[in-house]
Amino acid sequence: MSGILNLLKIALEKGCVTFNYPKEKNLTPEGLRGKPEIDFNTCIGCGACVEKCPSNALSLEEHEDIWKLNLFYGRCLMCGVCEEECPVDAIKLIEEYELASKTKKDLEVELQLIRVKCKKCGEYFTTKRLIENMMKEYLELQDSYSDDFTNRILNCPTCRKKEWGEELAEAYREARNEN
Ligand code: SF4
Ligand code: SF4
Repeated sequence: MSGILNLLKIALEKGCVTFNYPKEKNLTPEGLRGKPEIDFNTCIGCGACVEKCPSNALSLEEHEDIWKLNLFYGRCLMCGVCEEECPVDAIKLIEEYELASKTKKDLEVELQLIRVKCKKCGEYFTTKRLIENMMKEYLELQDSYSDDFTNRILNCPTCRKKEWGEELAEAYREARNEN
C-alpha cells in the first residue's frame, strides 16, 4: 500500500506530464527527421536518391521522353539517405511526420522531367535538366564550351565509350606508325 501512496505522492508533485494529443501538439524537437520533400524545380533527375533508398520508397520510371520520380511515403523510413545523396540539395527531410491517411494516393508524390536523346544513336538516355545543369556548372569553371565538351555531353554513355575506344585505337595506330 505504501508503494501506491508513494507513487501517488510523486504523481501529485510532478503534476500532469502528458498532453492531449492530437488536439495539443508537443514542440517538435530540433533536428527531427520527418518526411522527405522534393523540390520539383531543383531536381535534375540523376537517380542517385533512388539507387540508395533502402526501402524502395523512391523509384523511377522511364517512358520514352518522360522520366518519372516516384516517392511513396508508405514505405519511407525517414532515414535521410536521399537527402545526403542528392547532388543538388533537391530533397530534404522536413519536420512533418504525421502522415496517416485513408488513401494510398495521398502518400504518393510524382515528379516528371523531360528526357533527351543521344545525338549520335538517337536513344533516350538522360534528362534535359541534368544536361542543362552540367552545362551551367561547366561555364562556372570555363569561359566557354569546347567542341569536345558539347559533343560528349550530348552523347549517351555507350556512344561516348565507343568514341573513346575509337580515339584510343587511332592514337595507338598513329604511335605505331611513327615508330
Ligand atoms: S528518407 Fe530514406 S526511406 Fe525515405 S525516401 Fe529517403 S532514402 Fe528512402
Ligand atoms: S538525387 Fe536529387 S537530383 Fe537526383 S533524382 Fe534524387 S532528388 Fe532528383
